Amino acid sequence: MKAAAYRIERAATLEAALAQLQGGDYAKPIAGGQSLGAMLNLRLAQPERLVDLDGIAALTRVEETADALVLGALVTHASIEDGAGAEATGGFLPHVARRIAYRAVRNRGTVGGSLCHADPAADWVNAMAVAGAQLVIQGPGGSRTAPAATFMRSAFECALEEGEILREVRVPRFSPSARWSYRKFCRKTGEFALAVVGALRDPEARVERLVLGGLDGVPQVYEEPGLIARLAETARREAFLAQAVADLDETRAALQADLLRAVVQDIEGLA
Ligand code: FAD
Repeated sequence: MKAAAYRIERAATLEAALAQLQGGDYAKPIAGGQSLGAMLNLRLAQPERLVDLDGIAALTRVEETADALVLGALVTHASIEDGAGAEATGGFLPHVARRIAYRAVRNRGTVGGSLCHADPAADWVNAMAVAGAQLVIQGPGGSRTAPAATFMRSAFECALEEGEILREVRVPRFSPSARWSYRKFCRKTGEFALAVVGALRDPEARVERLVLGGLDGVPQVYEEPGLIARLAETARREAFLAQAVADLDETRAALQADLLRAVVQDIEGLA
């Protein structure tokens, strides 16, 4: 199948892109096109116009402040794989990036596009929830901030209102003593994950966070001091999973259980 006819306009600035999205017809932003391209070809999306964000230099910046790493929405998976944000997150972001599909996809795909596409199995959807990232959303009337953990509303639906653009992702710096783990199960490279589990323990920042992802809907985020240590006990972990993944079939529940055990071992230093 081929895409329905559409027009494409390039935007040179964020302000221009916001204005171009206000045309009154059905217009959508396009970033790396790695997911939207398929949606267009399958006619699951039929916009009349695409507004190409690719030329907006401000959206490709990477900035480090005292307490956060700021990634423009157009920063590619490849840039992160190559080291953007490595130091601020103790290697967490590059670890996630280099496991996304193939380098060809990573060269084009963007962190913002992945978050806005809101696939439950997408890596940034889950990893940014682990990191406790905040997303800065720009609309014609100003900007607002949303936690990555709740930005996804349901599978393939995010919290963007019509005409809004995801501008940047703010990742709180990990402390030197932070421990993290991120594991996923895919049948083969380039296929989406059937299960994802990630965790961050950052004692200096008083963060202990566990994320179960690759589910049918939004990632499940647990923030509870001592939770991960408690889950090192098999009986407690099984009881936790019996509630957390009760809706999954046996195979997917078993994958979540395997990943959770490994993630707990990573964080507790038991591996
Ligand atoms: P696009 O495809 O351009 O856009 C996606 C959606 O987001 C569209 O609805 C678009 O309108 C909207 N959008 C994009 N940017 C913005 C913005 N700044 N503001 C508002 N809306 C915006 N991903 C994984 O996580 N893990 C994988 O293992 C994986 N494997 C893949 C394998 C293949 C073969 C392919 C083709 C893709 C794979 N992906 C995977 C998806 C890939 O990571 C995409 O890069 C990502 O899902 C979308 O990013 P994009 O920049 O291409 O966005």
